Amino acid sequence: MSKVLTLVFGLVVSLSSVASAVERHVVVITIDGLPSSYFNDPHASLPVIRGLAKSGVAAVDGMQVSNPSVTWPNHTTLMTGVHPETHGVLFNGGLERSSVTKAVHVNPKKTQQELVKVPLLFDVIKEAGLTSAAINWPCTRGSTSIDDNFPDVPDEIQHSSPRLVKELTESGVLRHFKDGGSIVRDEVWTDAACHVIRQRKPRLLAFHLLNLDSTHHKYGPNSAPGYTAAALCDAMVGRVVKAIDDAGLRDRTTIFVVADHGFAAIQKSISPNAVLRREGLITVEKGKITSARAMVIPEGGTGLVYLTDPETATQDAETVRRLFQGAEGIVAVLGPDDFARYHMPTPATHKDMANLILVAKDGYTVGGSTAGDEFVVENKAGNTGSHGFVSTEPKMNAIFVASGSGIKPGVKLKSLDNSDVAPTAARLLGVPLKQATGRILTELLAEGD
Ligand SMILES: [Zn+2]
Repeated sequence: MSKVLTLVFGLVVSLSSVASAVERHVVVITIDGLPSSYFNDPHASLPVIRGLAKSGVAAVDGMQVSNPSVTWPNHTTLMTGVHPETHGVLFNGGLERSSVTKAVHVNPKKTQQELVKVPLLFDVIKEAGLTSAAINWPCTRGSTSIDDNFPDVPDEIQHSSPRLVKELTESGVLRHFKDGGSIVRDEVWTDAACHVIRQRKPRLLAFHLLNLDSTHHKYGPNSAPGYTAAALCDAMVGRVVKAIDDAGLRDRTTIFVVADHGFAAIQKSISPNAVLRREGLITVEKGKITSARAMVIPEGGTGLVYLTDPETATQDAETVRRLFQGAEGIVAVLGPDDFARYHMPTPATHKDMANLILVAKDGYTVGGSTAGDEFVVENKAGNTGSHGFVSTEPKMNAIFVASGSGIKPGVKLKSLDNSDVAPTAARLLGVPLKQATGRILTELLAEGD
């Protein structure tokens, strides 16, 4: 090669690497409640997701998720690179306490500012001048950074970006949203994601599909309805990939397909609040809790115990341990000394954190009811499903696939944590995410990334 040609070639190579660093797009898709075990399950029809993995990377054992292994805390980890001990989201909503000895509640009608203690990746890239969109993403209501937002929150249309609502209304996409069930809502969100990709070409799109979770709760994982719902999600991912193609962005886009948590089959449910009522720690009048010195907020495989009266809290903690340690369906009662191990805050570091945590045994789920005299109730209609178990339980592992621009195909990724996704996505966008405790998954990045 002549000197001139070498120079020109070198210039083109360096310009193209600058271009890829400047113009890359990242799409993070969460399929709510898709366990990593489905990836190699012959009963699961996932041609699109497996196709993305074939040209990219899949985690063999899936991705470990955050505690509690429920939806909003884990979506927030995926967009912050830190665990709930730092980002502060503990429920699908925010905790509300009224006064001493009164019941505590989870209220989903909260803004990002009320729920999340650190910036989301949308905020960090906005500072760097990059655009973003979020479709059905939790803890984004009231975001001042997301250019097109359709948040996962009650009254979502009211809290969505006005220009997006206008366009989706005019094109008829929202016609059945309010009256449609979870399948129709997933379809609307897919339409919205495809619209945003084609029309706005955001540098970061975060997109959350929800119907699989509802189906798994009702019928259990590894059920015919569960597999069917997963296949429908896979087809919806295919529509998003097609929209990326249509927008001419495929060669510049990195696609992550992940989940917020896995799922476990459930045969029995336990009602700790019914026991606390019998012990006189909860009083109920006309079906409503009128006072509660100790009460449990259920999160599926765990139950968060709140001791609401500081004067009796020590004594009430002993009572709770006496009642539930060794009881059927409970493997452990965790106290604040244990919480750091699970990357959860303590009541001293986060005002919304529980005093104790009940951990359910495999096959059992924690319910919130105060009614009845039975602590353990068997499912009458076969298996149901639950999540919220401690995240070291492999059934809680989430699927992880990364594919496209900047991803080195065929890398064997043994294990990863869901706090690794945000810093890796940030690196692909060329923006550092300094707050992250998760690591950049450098082993799956192509040279130069
Ligand atoms: Zn979920």
